[in-house]
Amino acid sequence: MTQQFEDLRTVASIVNGVETMEGEGFLVRRPFPTHALSEFDPFLLLDEMGPKDYSPGQAKGAPDHPHRGFETVTYMLTGRMEHKDSQGHQGQLRPGDVQWMTAGAGVVHSEMPEREFAREGGRLHGFQLWVNLPRRDKLMTPRYQEIPAEKIPVAQSADGLVKVKVIAGESLGARALIETRTPIIYLHLTLEPGGHVVQPVPREYNAFAYVIDGAGLFGAREAVDGQMVMFAQDGDALEISVPEEAAEPLDVLLIAGLPLNEPVARYGPFVMNTREEIYQALEDYRSGRMGDIAF
Ligand code: MN
Repeated sequence: MTQQFEDLRTVASIVNGVETMEGEGFLVRRPFPTHALSEFDPFLLLDEMGPKDYSPGQAKGAPDHPHRGFETVTYMLTGRMEHKDSQGHQGQLRPGDVQWMTAGAGVVHSEMPEREFAREGGRLHGFQLWVNLPRRDKLMTPRYQEIPAEKIPVAQSADGLVKVKVIAGESLGARALIETRTPIIYLHLTLEPGGHVVQPVPREYNAFAYVIDGAGLFGAREAVDGQMVMFAQDGDALEISVPEEAAEPLDVLLIAGLPLNEPVARYGPFVMNTREEIYQALEDYRSGRMGDIAF
């Protein structure tokens, strides 16, 4: 079967991540939200944690804090994190693992370096994406989808020059295990020099790429490590390639989703539709109705 894509998307803009301190004081690179770009509907935030080499005892995390009204998606590349929450849930994230947490009505959780990793030190590198929930799901029962690295579907191009890990959506014939509340594509692509991929992305979706390592061509525009490429909504597929003469492969996240087109009321870890709902979230948190971490 041959699919034809008439319209390849152009690039609307390329933005650099802004260095920001998070949690107990760990550095992230954050392409959004910034003063220039508050959100990219349905996405609320992207943080690149590291890559950073920690000495023994120096790795930092984010102690107990709440979330309501959206999802946090953590994807580890290197290093180990552990988490605990007010639902009595705990687990570890190892290299390549994904945790898709739907905070819904509210959880209080901690995201810390795994104990042994913190003691020994080492390199930490990963991502956290915040995906907004539609109004109908903002107060849903919290849930977790945790996919270990070895269960994430992978595929490659016929010439073997493009590999993809399919975290959400579909690519190169592989389909993700994770179920999303609204249509989302989340891919980790690795293109060797000379590699080329055309990824279908429905015209209505907002789509961006974030370069993890190396450099590549997005349509005709070049972007490098640490840059976010925002595609225009002018096509039903997008094209990524790496010139044959490139010195290294391109590692890139490709993330896209159907915009919610709903009002966003946002205050720290709470993302609702109205200011009144934010006040309610604060009150529910302060009065302990989102629970606490009791173990
Ligand atoms: Mn959190």
